[in-house]
Amino acid sequence: MDCIFCKIASGEFNSWKVCEDEHALAFLDINPVAEYHTIVVPKKHYANIFDIPADELARVMATVKRVVDLYGDKLGLNNCQIIHNAGAEAQQEVFHFHIHIIPRAHGDDNNITWKTHPEFRDKFAELMGRIRPQ
Ligand code: 5GP
Ligand code: ZN
Repeated sequence: MDCIFCKIASGEFNSWKVCEDEHALAFLDINPVAEYHTIVVPKKHYANIFDIPADELARVMATVKRVVDLYGDKLGLNNCQIIHNAGAEAQQEVFHFHIHIIPRAHGDDNNITWKTHPEFRDKFAELMGRIRPQ
C-alpha cells in the first residue's frame, strides 16, 4: 500500500522522530502550523477513528500523553490542541490514523473558529431518539 505514514513508521521515509515504542511513533509535521506541531501514528495502518480498534487507539493516546509531558517538561508547554481529522469531509488528507498535537501560545496568530448553530437545540429530542436502543 502506498501510504506515507506507513513508510515513515517503517523507517523507509525519514522523519524528525520525537519518540516511539513498539506500537506508535511521534514525529514533527512537515508543514507545521506551530513549533513542535507533532503527528502521532500507530505503526499499523488504520485509516482513522472509524476503523482503529480501541486497544490500538489507547496505545496511540499513551504516546500522545508522553509527547505532551515531554514538551511540558522541556519547553514549559501548557497550552495545546489535540486534533484528529477522520474522513475527507472532516479535512483528513493522509488516510493513516493520526493525532495532531498543536502547541498553542498567546499571540501565536492561530485561531480555530467553529460556526455554532443554537437552533439545533430544538432538535435534541429527535437527535437523541435516533441513537437510543430500540
Ligand atoms: P490531515 O489533514 O490528514 O489530518 O493532516 C495530515 C498532516 O500530515 C498534514 O499536517 C501534513 O503536513 C502532514 N504530512 C503530510 N505528509 C507528510 C510527510 O511526508 N512527513 C511529515 N512529517 N508530515 C506529513
Ligand atoms: Zn499507512
